[in-house]
Amino acid sequence: MATVVTLTSDADARLVTQHLQSLGVWSSALKNNAGSVTALTLSAHSASISFDALKRIPGIAEVLAAPSGHPRLDERRGKAVQINDTTKIGPGQPPTLMAGPCSAESAELVDAVAAEVAAAGGHLLRGGAFKPRTSPYAFAGAGQKALTWLRDAADRYGLGLVTECMSEADAGRVSEVADLIQIGSRNMQNFSLLRAIGATGAAVMLKRGRSATLSEWRLAAEHLLAAGARDVVFCERGIQGVDGETRNTLDLGAVALLSHIDQLPIVVDPSHGAGRRDLVQALSRAALAAGAHGVLVETHISPGEARSDGPQALPVNELYTLLRDHRN
Ligand code: PEP
Ligand code: MN
Repeated sequence: MATVVTLTSDADARLVTQHLQSLGVWSSALKNNAGSVTALTLSAHSASISFDALKRIPGIAEVLAAPSGHPRLDERRGKAVQINDTTKIGPGQPPTLMAGPCSAESAELVDAVAAEVAAAGGHLLRGGAFKPRTSPYAFAGAGQKALTWLRDAADRYGLGLVTECMSEADAGRVSEVADLIQIGSRNMQNFSLLRAIGATGAAVMLKRGRSATLSEWRLAAEHLLAAGARDVVFCERGIQGVDGETRNTLDLGAVALLSHIDQLPIVVDPSHGAGRRDLVQALSRAALAAGAHGVLVETHISPGEARSDGPQALPVNELYTLLRDHRN
C-alpha cells in the first residue's frame, strides 16, 4: 500500500530523504507545477515504520496512506492461533510439527504414520482425503472414509488434525473432523470455496498459490475471515521457479516478512517446496530460522510405495530430527 508524506513549506526535501533513508525508508519525490518537491512516496521495499515515527521527522507535514484492504487480518497481528487444547501456532509459540502422508491411502497407513508422528513429538497429523492432482488420471485420494481414518488415528495418538477441503460441498464434513482445514495452493483464490470454508467458522491453513503475490495471499486470508473463519495460518509451500531440480522455489523471504514484519502466523511446507526428501531437513531448519512458526512435512512408512508425492516423502525415522534444535 503506497504511503505518501507531504512536506512543510520550509522543508529541505534532501534532508527529509536522508533522514528517511537512515531509518531504512526509501522514497521518490513528487513535484508541484513550479518544480518544487512537496511530497514523497515511500517505497514498498522500505522498513515498516509507524505513522507517528514518520510524523516526528522534521519537515514532514502529513502522512497519507490508503486504508488497508485487510482490516480483519491486521487485527490478528502478533496473535497465535489456538488449534486445539494443546497446540497454538504463531508468534510467541514453540514451533509446531505437522506431519503425515500426502494422501490418507488406507486406515492402516494413517494409523502407523500417526503413531510415528506422535512418537517424534509432532503436534498435528496431516493427510489428504481429497487430493488435487494435476493429472485427472492420478490417485485423487480415498475420499470421505479417509476423514474417519484420519480423525480416529489423530485421537488415538493425541494429535490434532489438518486436512484439505477441495470442495464447497465437503466444507461442513471436513470442519467436523479437522482442527485446521487446509486450503491447497491451487485453491488459494477459489473465492466461493473460501467463503464456504470461512462460513464453517473453522481455523484455516491457507497455502500460497504457486504464483500468488503476498498481497493476493493476504487478501485471500481476509476473504476467509470476512466469511467467518475463526483464524488463518499461512503456509508457504514454494512458488513457480525457473529450475525443475527443485519442484518449486521455497520463498523464505516471504516467510520472514509475514513472520517478522506482519507478525502473522506462518508455517512452511518444505516437502512441496522442494519436491525431494533429501532437502526437507535443511529447508525445515532454514524455515524456522527465517521465522516460520512450524513445518508441515510429508512422511510415509514406505515412501517408495506412496500413491502420491513419494519422492518428497520423508521416511518416518527422520521425523525425530526435524525440530531437534528447537526442543527445550
Ligand atoms: C498437499 O499438501 O498434499 C498438497 C496438495 O499441497 P499443495 O496444495 O501445496 O500442492
Ligand atoms: Mn502432497
